[in-house]
Amino acid sequence: MEVRDKVIDICAQANGVDLVGIAPVERFSDLPENSRPTAYLPSTKSVVVLGSQVFEVLTKRLTAQKKVGEVSFRDFYDAHNETVVHDLTQTAYRVARYLTNQGFASMNIGQDLTDYRTITGPFSFKFAAIQAGLGVLGKSGLLITPEYGPRIKLSAVLTEADLAGDPLNTDDVCGDCDICIKVCPSGALKPPEQGKIPNYDRFVCNSFYTANEGCGMCLAKCPR
Ligand code: SF4
Ligand code: SF4
Repeated sequence: MEVRDKVIDICAQANGVDLVGIAPVERFSDLPENSRPTAYLPSTKSVVVLGSQVFEVLTKRLTAQKKVGEVSFRDFYDAHNETVVHDLTQTAYRVARYLTNQGFASMNIGQDLTDYRTITGPFSFKFAAIQAGLGVLGKSGLLITPEYGPRIKLSAVLTEADLAGDPLNTDDVCGDCDICIKVCPSGALKPPEQGKIPNYDRFVCNSFYTANEGCGMCLAKCPR
């Protein structure tokens, strides 16, 4: 079996992931040097991006308030999220391990690299997923996939294996929809200006999210 096919096969196994895409490293060349895959693995030729769904039955019931004495779906969602991320990280490790054993230097990237002083990470899973054709950026600032809408968690493997890339997704997923902007309780999401998608203030979102012990209305109400 070819290396690329084996990578897809590992991801497709019963305890694998729901989505996998491959981005050639050239698709990251417009990023600042310290955000490119080569900043972490200089010989990177390909980035394998893995995605696992989070269950809609939970995301649909997220709310922006946590009332005292009531069950909050935020609590169920957080626990579910942890399990999904754990599983995803394990599969990313298995892919990196296979590639390493084939003689290609490879590393999987842990799930949460966010620096909460700037609310950015040194490596963007979302950007990598778009470059791997898994989806597009919605007005909510979330990755929107054809299969699971915004209900997706991500992980990635950097490898010096030269794997054929997947085509980019060019769908206009949002169109005239502006539900996430209307339901955003903090004002962090605004209508696109001069074609800028998303028009999103991550500091406003984060302050609201922290003060209310969660939100996710943009995730809950997205019709995709
Ligand atoms: S999580 Fe809440 S506050 Fe943040 S962008 Fe989404 S809807 Fe707005
Ligand atoms: S709620 Fe509508 S506008 Fe917002 S990301 Fe989803 S599809 Fe796009």
